[in-house]
Amino acid sequence: MDNLIITDLSKTYKNGVKALQNISLQIPKGMFGLLGPNGAGKSTLMRTIATLQEADQGEILLGGLNIQSQPNELRKVLGYLPQQFGVYPSLSVEMLLNHLAVLKGIINRKERNDIVHALLHKVNLFEVRKQKLGEFSGGMKQRFGIAQALLNNPKLLIVDEPTAGLDPVERNRFYNLLSEIGEQTIVILSTHIVDDVKELCTKMAIINKGNVVIQGNPLEIIESL
Ligand code: ADP
Ligand code: ADP
Repeated sequence: MDNLIITDLSKTYKNGVKALQNISLQIPKGMFGLLGPNGAGKSTLMRTIATLQEADQGEILLGGLNIQSQPNELRKVLGYLPQQFGVYPSLSVEMLLNHLAVLKGIINRKERNDIVHALLHKVNLFEVRKQKLGEFSGGMKQRFGIAQALLNNPKLLIVDEPTAGLDPVERNRFYNLLSEIGEQTIVILSTHIVDDVKELCTKMAIINKGNVVIQGNPLEIIESL
């Protein structure tokens, strides 16, 4: 099926930092937790999967797609919520989502409005759609970030340390949303919070200093730590 398969991926930055060293991972549908301390290489890996930067060697396959040789095809089925998401803080979120939908190629106005409204409902922001992103709380901003990442109905959703600065209520709400998405999509969640992976994820990997330390079932791995 459409697993994400990463084989022997390496990246050394120009300053000599070996951010990824022969990383191999198999990521099935559902919530996949990528756990590791600051500097482990999580963002480098996420950006590489999201086609925002290139590795020095290795291969990434999603179903039949090769990410390096078919990046445009991959982008059509990819949703990405980067660590810092915040653009156009003065537009209403409805207009902003509409605008982002145009950029993703959803040109038909009726279709676009339907998609935008459905997504605003999905992330529970429909009631506040006339407000501006700059007026939103951290949790609301992150839910908006998910809505924009889902505009193209992706098969793969990449979420990089999404809960920094969220209070516990907002965090739970955000994670419920992700779990729901994980029923139909590959969701990769990068985090340094062990409990998040334990509660949410069906598979996980720990990376440290650019290496995969262990991968498998979160309950078994976290019990053994
Ligand atoms: P590259 O070596 O891949 O060309 P650069 O050194 O040009 O990368 O940096 C690209 C971006 O990454 C810049 O925005 C820079 O501020 C940031 N950056 C550089 N060094 C580090 C680092 N050690 N950790 C995190 N970000 C960094
Ligand atoms: P994490 O997301 O797990 O904190 P990163 O992928 O951001 O890890 O960083 C992995 C290592 O690569 C760190 O040592 C970081 O300083 C370094 N690094 C990240 N980006 C760059 C860059 N653009 N240029 C040079 N070094 C970088």
